[in-house]
Amino acid sequence: MLNGKLTIVTLGSHSALQILKGAKDEGFKTLVVTTTEKAHFYKRFKFIDEILSIPEYSDFESIEKKLRNKNCILVPHGSFVAHLGLEINKRMSLPYFGNKSVLDFEAHREKQRQWLKNADINVPAQFEDVENISYPVIVKSYGAAGGKGYFYAKSKNDFKKKMGNFKAKHYVIQEYVIGVTLYIHYFYSPLTSELEILSMDRRYETNVDSLGRIPLRGQVGLKIEPSYVVVGNSPLILRESLLHEAYDMGERIIKASKELIDKRGLWGPFCLETVITEDSEFFAMEISCRIVAGTNLFIEGSPYSWLTYDEPMSTGRRIAREIKIAKKKNKLSQVLN
Ligand code: ATP
Repeated sequence: MLNGKLTIVTLGSHSALQILKGAKDEGFKTLVVTTTEKAHFYKRFKFIDEILSIPEYSDFESIEKKLRNKNCILVPHGSFVAHLGLEINKRMSLPYFGNKSVLDFEAHREKQRQWLKNADINVPAQFEDVENISYPVIVKSYGAAGGKGYFYAKSKNDFKKKMGNFKAKHYVIQEYVIGVTLYIHYFYSPLTSELEILSMDRRYETNVDSLGRIPLRGQVGLKIEPSYVVVGNSPLILRESLLHEAYDMGERIIKASKELIDKRGLWGPFCLETVITEDSEFFAMEISCRIVAGTNLFIEGSPYSWLTYDEPMSTGRRIAREIKIAKKKNKLSQVLN
């Protein structure tokens, strides 16, 4: 039972600074759980009230009881599933911002694809049979993070040649969509049933985003293969004529989640990872059902959040604002799991 002053807690990694800064700005107590070696780093930030250290992120469960006594609400981010695994996330007993039923859909590529298709969102074609490969593909291993372990093949023969060195047992062969990548950061409020776009970013990936800096004739003979490892993020503003579709896709994802996952569906922050083609069509590569690291660019808000709020509004702060309103209206159960 949550009573009195609440504490927002998260793992010291990924977007913890943004989440805890936002929580502080909204009047919460803040606590970070981090590894012993990183505790010193988090001490630099005055908006963090308390730091708890554990030897490894995977030891998180060992301090859950302690956190329960501190009136905590947990705000998950990308490192939760990466460091603790899906099962620990699901069985955590701390009040958790978001719907845990969504985790299975996020983790399984086929379920995720079905969800996107139900939302009438274009997804890249997939090849079950290698012999059917008729245009460039990207081969994605399961369980990869940050684009590691992917390769590009321009044809069936190229694919067969490269498969020889590929170690992953489980992978998908996906149409390589040529266009501009764009990651759209949404927030859906279960309290008002309203969807917002808070910001957008592009990932900068090595070496695919730098290949254009070497002219083709300079690349001949070098045998450079594109790779997709995220190095950082940069902002991008979408043409206004495409913006309505970005909102509509978000609305359709929420609607489809309520039909497919459970009645409550998806809420809180989520990100649609898209490629926009020369015909101005969006293709979704993936959906992340939580705060993504690209939102760290916008701790002071973005042009999009500024259209809605006359104050700096990061995704981290928006989460805290939702919890604050829910508490005031006695509706915490609507935003927590
Ligand atoms: P994360 O889990 O961190 O979001 P990931 O490892 O699941 O990343 P993706 O986001 O699926 O990886 O893809 C990594 C990068 O690979 C993309 O940012 C994009 O540059 C490229 N990519 C993935 N799928 C496609 C596709 N179908 N067409 C073109 N490029 C793609």
